[in-house]
Amino acid sequence: MSSSAIAAATPEMIARYEPVIGLEVHVQLATSTKIFCGCPTGFGAPPNTNVCPVCLGLPGALPVLSREAVELAIKGSLALNCEVRPRSRFARKNYFYPDLPKGYQISQYDEPVAEHGWLDITVDGVTKRIGVTRVHMEDDAGKSVHDGFKDSDDYSYVDLNRSGTPLIEIVSEPDMRSADEAHAYLTELKQRIQFIEVSTCDMEKGHLRCDANVSVRLKGAEKFGTRAEVKNLNSFRFLKQAIDFEVARQVALLESGGRIVQETRLYNPDREETFSMRSKEDAHDYRYFPEPDLVPLRISEKWLSDVRSSMPELPGTKRARFIGEFGLSEYDADVLTAERATAEYFETAAGISGNPKMAANWVMGDLMAMLKAESMDISLSPVSAAHLGELVKLIASGEISGKIAKEVFSKMFSTGDAPASIIEREGLKQISDTGALEKIIADVIEANPKQVEQYRGGKTTVINFLVGQAMKATRGQANVGVVTELFKQKLG
Ligand code: ADP
Ligand code: MG
Ligand code: ZN
Repeated sequence: MSSSAIAAATPEMIARYEPVIGLEVHVQLATSTKIFCGCPTGFGAPPNTNVCPVCLGLPGALPVLSREAVELAIKGSLALNCEVRPRSRFARKNYFYPDLPKGYQISQYDEPVAEHGWLDITVDGVTKRIGVTRVHMEDDAGKSVHDGFKDSDDYSYVDLNRSGTPLIEIVSEPDMRSADEAHAYLTELKQRIQFIEVSTCDMEKGHLRCDANVSVRLKGAEKFGTRAEVKNLNSFRFLKQAIDFEVARQVALLESGGRIVQETRLYNPDREETFSMRSKEDAHDYRYFPEPDLVPLRISEKWLSDVRSSMPELPGTKRARFIGEFGLSEYDADVLTAERATAEYFETAAGISGNPKMAANWVMGDLMAMLKAESMDISLSPVSAAHLGELVKLIASGEISGKIAKEVFSKMFSTGDAPASIIEREGLKQISDTGALEKIIADVIEANPKQVEQYRGGKTTVINFLVGQAMKATRGQANVGVVTELFKQKLG
């Protein structure tokens, strides 16, 4: 189908249809080893070095299930409000691919690790619940490399480092009705999975991959239309673009009297369109059968509750707590819980500072700006959370002025030192002692007779100038409030 055919779907036509979308999301679990062998999962090793007889699919090699992978799968399932099944079972999914040496993937079929979950999303102020049908565990295939080598036009290469990497596949109900809802669902899913460190969800490295199932039906119709599955959408932008394209393509096809065929399609970001890859296989094409080399997986009540209690607080709960406990605004709570590292940083700083709101402003303001300027992750911040907390405490207690604090902060950022030692070293302590300030104020009054006269003549705004002179004389260390008061007293 060419783009011109898409242009054939007018906005009026599209408006008569309702998109129906279900997502299948593959998440690479953050284990240090593969799911059925002890090979490392690290990214970027030389090709075919992280391999052994099991993940090479050599005959006779036997898989051994990783406990760590199961625990991460359980955590991920719980974060998606799923029920973890006490018993699940692995199944062979047979297909041929050059980078799948076993000739089958070890997945789960009729007895997945978890099911019946949900996620709430909010789009345009409307909150809606999207069902999570099931979560199943599986191993990843290797990688075929078609470029990046000398003579690459003539050869393709197979790298089996990725073969046997643990994945969970998260299948949603066909509950989404727009590209925006699909975007919101994937955002929520990614945030949760990242937060509990089940996966880095790094899309560039393929740690989070999304397939979108898309169909359309006339508004008001009950029956779903035939779906097309668009595979391997590796960015949020492509997910939205691919869905919008697919909806327009299907509407144009139906409106011109055509019929949608169930198929697997790929998205071409350069042309912003999807194209057919293969007609869609049905489950029976895979000849699923129980994996004979693995016993069924049993997850006891005890194991489940141990994993549950080891889970960190989820972002939504944290957000509500930040609002309730610290009096943060919804916006601030959103920003500070977007990532786990930020949330933990803030909470540590807030606890030490004794002034959570001021700590929030410093984290979201100066700290984030500085980290951004240096393209630095908060986990690598040269200013520790404890140090930022101490800085805020010094400001809140009046030991240093807000202005000096900025200077101290930038020194903290470049040296990693504690605020107290910088203040000590540089002599930056705020001067609030009236005795020490009186002399300075007297000097300023003497040096500026014209302004003093103007002030006494009723032009009271001149006081700002005089205060400025005093601040300059103390290199910004004077307490502005105290200085202003003293001037008022002296000038009557
Ligand atoms: P398969 O393995 O064949 O892709 P799954 O059951 O794993 O099948 O996934 C099917 C996905 O397609 C689910 O996310 C489901 O919500 C979605 N889906 C099913 N029917 C439709 C439909 N008519 N339109 C859009 N999405 C659909
Ligand atoms: Mg599928
Ligand atoms: Zn291996």
